[in-house]
Amino acid sequence: MALDEASPVADDKIRCDACPVMCFIKPGAVGACDRYGNVEGELVRMEPHVVLERTLEHGGEVVPFAGSREWEGEIVHQQGTFITAIGAGTTYPDYKPAPFIVSSEVDGVDMVTVVTEGIFSYCGVKVKIDTDRFLGPEQATVRVEGEAIGHVTTGEYGSQMLSLGGVHHLTGGSKKEGRVTCDALLQLSNGKAVELTIDEGETVIVQAGKPPIVNGIQESRMRVGCGSATIGIFAKQWHGKVDEVVVVDDHITGVLSEHQAGKLLGMAGTGIKLKGRRSTPGRYFQVAQPGTGWGGTNISDPLTILGPFDPKVAYPGLRLLMVSTTGEHAAYYELDENLVPVETQMPQPLVEPVERIAENCEPALSTVLFIGGAGGSLRAGVTENPVRLTRSVKDALTYVTCGGAPVYIWPGGGITFMVDVTRLPENAFGYVPTPALVAPLEFTMSRTDYEALGGHMDAIQPLASLKGGSQLRLPQRPDNPWPLAPEQPRRSLG
Ligand code: SF4
Repeated sequence: MALDEASPVADDKIRCDACPVMCFIKPGAVGACDRYGNVEGELVRMEPHVVLERTLEHGGEVVPFAGSREWEGEIVHQQGTFITAIGAGTTYPDYKPAPFIVSSEVDGVDMVTVVTEGIFSYCGVKVKIDTDRFLGPEQATVRVEGEAIGHVTTGEYGSQMLSLGGVHHLTGGSKKEGRVTCDALLQLSNGKAVELTIDEGETVIVQAGKPPIVNGIQESRMRVGCGSATIGIFAKQWHGKVDEVVVVDDHITGVLSEHQAGKLLGMAGTGIKLKGRRSTPGRYFQVAQPGTGWGGTNISDPLTILGPFDPKVAYPGLRLLMVSTTGEHAAYYELDENLVPVETQMPQPLVEPVERIAENCEPALSTVLFIGGAGGSLRAGVTENPVRLTRSVKDALTYVTCGGAPVYIWPGGGITFMVDVTRLPENAFGYVPTPALVAPLEFTMSRTDYEALGGHMDAIQPLASLKGGSQLRLPQRPDNPWPLAPEQPRRSLG
């Protein structure tokens, strides 16, 4: 694809002005970001431009390919075709119209899609790691190659959370910190594995949509709930088969006989004594230190969280089950004459309820959400009056997609969006060495609304006029809504 912004210079080099780096590119070479190259004196976007096609599952027309295929130069069919920003290129400075502003007719309505690969200095990824293992303290620095690229943020239910990237790591530290941060964000956004080390914590390999690997061990199960929730779920299944159950959890350890679930089942007290801080009956905080052992604690022997049994209540032969929130760890004990728990073989009736905990765990995955601020200057490529685009997005007149994938737009000011990177085609993200990430963005609205927000009407080209040899057709993912579907929220400005 030849871009008119390429400016010829001496000795056959051409100048790329698609980003502030302004590379001079020799014939046959590519620029610093590998995105643009000098092909026979023309500035060319090196990856193919991705076009999505709607499949039968979406009620669209049949597409004559399996998986993907190179474009063969035929005219684009309006129905069931969506021009993404992946490989579309970037215009710089921003006041130039976006690389593609495409019109099409959908169910009798004239629509416009503005397509651009946005350059994001303000961006990062939020990572959700399904594990109850302790990865590091909140606020601890997360590193790649020794460079700080983010931090541990507040954990969620059954998951540890990381906040990586952001403008401070990209631009506010050393050159190496910015480069390493940019590369880690690029790899994670493109679905590649990245090894992260956490200060005062562990090493974890994260890859979007894949199980996390903590200290070399692949996580398989996401816990069924906290210790108290596990008691609430399984109390009935344990009742009658054991006298006491302790569900070991770093956050809330549950004790069946004291828990409301045990009380309602009429269970008698057992004289058990838990270390840690009692919150409400049968729920204990801080029974141990966080770690990678039982239930996200640092213990490998669960008896270390117990004090001596109360001799006024406990009795020899009392049956005790200790289990973790994933069922990964479980041990069965009976009290001896001195009221000391002695581990013995798990009785058969208890095997199934323990296995039921594991069965109810979901597969542990790493989730990567890219977050970027599209409320800045790239809006000028869409309209001469940028705040109108922001308002149009907020009013749901303009539908925003990232490589054809649905995004979540944060309330409040700006156009801060998040997208699950696994819902984009592969390698949809790029970078420029400023450093910044390049992410595809499409803004779709009615032609009437586009005109009303001050759009670049002269730059609109009909979808049917697009043809060429550097596009790649891909089927739309079945779980992504069709970006041009009439059910997308839109109403007229008029
Ligand atoms: S870094 Fe890439 S986009 Fe920027 S000027 Fe160089 S080749 Fe062009």
